[in-house]
Amino acid sequence: MACKMLDGEKRAAEIKEELKKELAELAARGVKPHLVAVQVGENKASEVYIRSQQKAFSELGIDYTLKTLPGDITKDALVKEIEALNGDGTYTGIILQMPLPQQINAREIQACISPDKDVEAINARNMGKLVAGDLTLGPCTAAAAMELYKTTGEPLKGKDVVVVGHSEIVGKPLALMLLWHPTESATPTVCHIATKDLKAHLKRADVVFVAVGKAGLVNGADLKPGAIAIDIGINRVPVKDKDGNPVLNEKGKPKMKTVGDIDAESAEKVCSWLSPVPGGVGPITVVMLMRNTVRLAGMAGG
Ligand code: NAD
Repeated sequence: MACKMLDGEKRAAEIKEELKKELAELAARGVKPHLVAVQVGENKASEVYIRSQQKAFSELGIDYTLKTLPGDITKDALVKEIEALNGDGTYTGIILQMPLPQQINAREIQACISPDKDVEAINARNMGKLVAGDLTLGPCTAAAAMELYKTTGEPLKGKDVVVVGHSEIVGKPLALMLLWHPTESATPTVCHIATKDLKAHLKRADVVFVAVGKAGLVNGADLKPGAIAIDIGINRVPVKDKDGNPVLNEKGKPKMKTVGDIDAESAEKVCSWLSPVPGGVGPITVVMLMRNTVRLAGMAGG
């Protein structure tokens, strides 16, 4: 079976065009979305994310302000900062960059962000809307995976869907999104670290979404012929030569590459559709952050 590759860059570009129209409509109503990103302490990984967010937001002309706070900030002081941003009319959205320093419980702080400014759509009210089938906002990675799936044109109604990974930002909201409609929903099964027989679940799935963070967790041989596979995982692994030895870069260090959780080479032989890593869900995720920012601003703007 010829496997078709899903194109996250293409879908991301299409949604950006839709957002440009929504932004023009908001501008006509005098509404200007403005995201404030809160970074606590210094962290190389979150700086990479912040740079990619800044680039994407400036491309669409959405205001993005970075607020950096000291790494030794107390929980109470951080809560006060968030509450001040909740009340500050300059900002229509707030994102708390991860990771936070050890003394801070991320969930507690995220819960302090006003649901009206919660661009990651992860606090209880916004997550609760998913339970009610309202997908206007959704946690960015889960929403991105759904957007990429939709490009297959395959209706989800009744399909056996296996979601591997049950985190609060991906697997759990994805399962709720799959159950969005009273009569048109898929039939999701959510697998995780304690699942007894992952392979048995995978083998009968029409569609799999994998969000774990383990390269090669899913092999083509684990999948049902013709399955649609959406790979959400992001892993850095050493590049190997044909004998299995690590390839070194010009500095003599192992050359690294980015791969997903699904072994793409074997999956391509079995799947009808496969999402690549990189170039699949990843490029759409930051666009979902922009979409949530635009939609929340629109709701607040009346
Ligand atoms: P997480 O660590 O919060 O959750 C991992 C999940 O995998 C858990 O539910 C755990 O039970 C499950 N798991 C672990 N080992 C397993 C196993 N052997 N079998 C079955 N399930 C197992 O991770 P997360 O934050 O949800 O991220 C998951 C992956 O998605 C990571 O690779 C992350 O980098 C990636 N990610 C991608 C994007 C994107 O835009 N593409 C965004 C966010 C996260």
